[in-house]
Amino acid sequence: MTAYQFPVEVHSHTIHSDGQFTVKDLVESAVSFGYKGLILTDHNSSAGYSEMSTVPAVKDGELVTLHGIEWTTYFGHMLVHDADYDVDWREATPNTIDKYMAEVQVANGLIGIAHPFDMGSPICTGCHWDYQVKDYNLVNYIEIWNSNRPQDKSESILAYDFWVDKLKKGYEISCSAGRGWHRPDTLDANMGVTYLDIPESELTAENFKAALGQGQFYVTLGAVVEFQLQAKDVTRSYHIGDRVELEDFSEGQIQVRVEPTELHGLTQFAVENAYMTIWNNEEVIYQSEPLKLLDSPWEIEIPLTQDLAKGYVRFDIRADFRGIKATPVVVGNPIYIK
Ligand SMILES: [Zn+2]
Ligand SMILES: [Zn+2]
Repeated sequence: MTAYQFPVEVHSHTIHSDGQFTVKDLVESAVSFGYKGLILTDHNSSAGYSEMSTVPAVKDGELVTLHGIEWTTYFGHMLVHDADYDVDWREATPNTIDKYMAEVQVANGLIGIAHPFDMGSPICTGCHWDYQVKDYNLVNYIEIWNSNRPQDKSESILAYDFWVDKLKKGYEISCSAGRGWHRPDTLDANMGVTYLDIPESELTAENFKAALGQGQFYVTLGAVVEFQLQAKDVTRSYHIGDRVELEDFSEGQIQVRVEPTELHGLTQFAVENAYMTIWNNEEVIYQSEPLKLLDSPWEIEIPLTQDLAKGYVRFDIRADFRGIKATPVVVGNPIYIK
């Protein structure tokens, strides 16, 4: 296995919008959680970012940061990560959102739809995604887990299905987890963590952004996963978010390794009846026996006995977790097959 894995948080708030954290508190909380990367996404403000570089952990390179903003509108919340300049969102309407997303792309920003199925008005004005996107190629990721204990929310399953529907339609689009981290965690919290799965040995701002843009990440409530496609002659292996040529994989194999995370914030990851499913497009090509995820690393090599179809290969792990049956606990972004 050759990839390096970095836990990151891509959706966070400070007192520059409605968070309780000062910028320094947020950075220090991120470091103590074990994150290697952090994106600040205050509501309609990027004012806090300049403070970040003054916090020692950021100055020393212990935590890699990108700036961002959460467009917070009546029709939905949208994460914009690392755009070269702010695009004005104030005139965006459900039918014109594509034009504004295209402007963000011109500004080299990444776009994530935040908590698309959260309840809207009067519970939370604008929290439900009501924009009518015509071209989902403009969207980099859909947040399938938001906030703490995402497994408890039916919105998480709706968002997962929404994401898979876009994959089925042929879009290259990732799923993300974002805590919408506003305040210190309660004792019973568990959370979805985004793990970058990248070939570089070092996490820099540049490859943090590139990994997000390419879909080189997966989301997890606890376990760490390495998932790769290996050509028959083993000259190359391909990881989450890679684009590969179909002809390289007749008689290849899929290699998987699952192990517990070292993040102490996820120690409540006590799952039962876990199993992994692998899809080629939405056809199941593998389903595992029950996994004992906490005991020891689980490794398997799955020979590809049938030809893969063009499209994508992806996996998830489902389990009984904190009272919820067969809920996704790890969701991988696709390897795309051309
Ligand atoms: Zn939001
Ligand atoms: Zn938020």
